[in-house]
Order: sequence, then C-alpha cells, then structure tokens
Amino acid sequence: MTAHPLFDISGRTALVTGAGRGIGLALARGLAEAGCTVVLNGRDAGRLTRAAAELPGDRDRIHTAVFDVTDGTSVAAGIADVEERVGPLDILVNNAGIQLRAPLLEFADADWHRILDTNLTSAFLVGREAARRMTERGHGKIINICSLQSEVVRPGIAPYAATKGALKMLTKGMCAEWGPSGVQVNGLGPGYIETELTRPLVDDEEFGAWVRRRTPAGRWGRTEDLVGGVLFLASHAADFVSGQILYVDGGMTSVL
Ligand code: NDP
Repeated sequence: MTAHPLFDISGRTALVTGAGRGIGLALARGLAEAGCTVVLNGRDAGRLTRAAAELPGDRDRIHTAVFDVTDGTSVAAGIADVEERVGPLDILVNNAGIQLRAPLLEFADADWHRILDTNLTSAFLVGREAARRMTERGHGKIINICSLQSEVVRPGIAPYAATKGALKMLTKGMCAEWGPSGVQVNGLGPGYIETELTRPLVDDEEFGAWVRRRTPAGRWGRTEDLVGGVLFLASHAADFVSGQILYVDGGMTSVL
C-alpha cells in the first residue's frame, strides 16, 4: 500500500532551525526520509556537520546553514544564502529554542531578553524573511514549534510559557497576513519530550514520574513522536489548515 499523494512532500526544500540535535534534528531526519531537500540550521558548524552526516538520502539533498536566529542581519543573510545555494524554500520549521527555569522574582533581565529573542523574535525574523519569498511565489508552509506551555504554565517556567503563548498568537497573525498569498502557518506543540533541553527534568525522578502519571499516554514523548505532525502540516493534505496549533503531547494538554 502506498501513501495518499496528498502526503507526498518529496522534492520540496525545507529549512529547520536549531536542527543540530533534539527535536530539530529528528524533524530534519523525518523530512529527509520523506524525500525533501533539507537545510539544518544552528550556530555550531561542527555539530551541524555531524548531524547532517547522520541523515539519510543523497548528500546533495542535505545542507547546513550556520546563523544565529536571534540576529536580524544574520537571518537576512542566512536565508538569502540558503535560497541561492540550495533553492527556493517550500517549508520552514521554526524550532530553535531554549528553556531557562527560575521563579519570576529571581529571573534576570538578561535571561528575559535571551529567552524572548531565542523563542519568539527568532520566529518573527526567520518567518518574515522566508515569507517575503514564499508570498511572492504564492506558496509555502511555515511550522512554528510551540509547546504544551503555549496553553498552561507551572511555577518556575513563566518566561518560557510567555514566549510560547506569544508564539501561538504570532502563528495566528502570520496565518492571517500570509494566507491570502498561499502560505499556511501552523504551530506544533510538543508535550514533555526527552531531549537535552529537558534533561534536568528527566533526571529528576519525582518530576519524571509526575510527567508519566499526568500524561494519558503514560510516558515521556520521544522526538520521533513529533515527525508525523510536521510532515502532515508540511503537506498538501494540510492546504486548508492554517493558524492551528497541533498538540503532540500524549494527551497532556487535555487533562492538565
Ligand atoms: P535542544 O536544546 O535539544 O535543541 C535546541 C536547538 O536550538 C539546539 O540545536 C541549538 O543549537 C538551537 N539554538 C538555540 N539557540 C539558537 C540560536 N540563537 N540560533 C540558532 N539555533 C539555536 O531543545 P529541544 O530539541 O528539546 O527543543 C526544540 C524546540 O522544541 C524548542 O523550541 C523547544 O522550546 C521546543 N519544545 C521542546 C519540548 C521538550 O520537551 N523538549 C517541549 C515543548 C517544546 P546551537 O546551540 O548549536 O545553536
């Protein structure tokens, strides 16, 4: 049995930000396995080269692009370079992000700006630069990696949740403005996924057990759990889906 043609995204070109490890790397691998040409972005050239070497497919379909997604000048140069070297972008996954945990009363100004820049401003900068080209061409798919914390918050994580809640509304705003030009913009909201970002939580026995107890699926998420949602949102099967956040969280958002 073959997949329905609506889900065929082979031959498209996708950029994934923060793709050197974790969720970004898993999504880049999934897109490569689906036949896309994939560009992995990050700040660490060595890590990106090692990550790219792990991906399947012809080497001429796997590329890296080193630029800092928080810096407007680097982003503009980076996207221009990617389109010149690799070709027109069909799919953008805004995945780069950080988590900084501390109570609000102890949260430093510099950390507030860093988390906003990395988790929210980056999606505006990279999204705007990609959408300038996509809207001109009349098609494109942008997927912003939101979070369970776009909906709910716990003590110690308010700045992170603020960035992810705002990213949800930025997704809807992008959908409203770029939809008429054929660009669909959606969010994917992971639940608790085992990565470097959540390592301290996974290693905390009590918290790890709490996650398993509170997740209807009864386990932590794996990065591969997120691939199907992104492939769907990147495909023609989702051509009339825009401004939505698809939570891939083992059901946790529904019960918290
Ligand atoms: P990781 O820390 O494992 O990976 C984050 C990646 O982002 C790194 O490869 C890092 O690369 C990159 N990055 C960070 N800052 C920048 C920057 N300024 N420019 C370019 N790249 C950058 O995190 P995850 O894989 O766990 O998370 C990925 C996304 O998923 C994030 O947006 C996160 O908020 C979101 N998410 C994660 C969840 C989880 O449970 N893990 C749950 C919900 C959402 P480098 O430092 O080499 O540049």
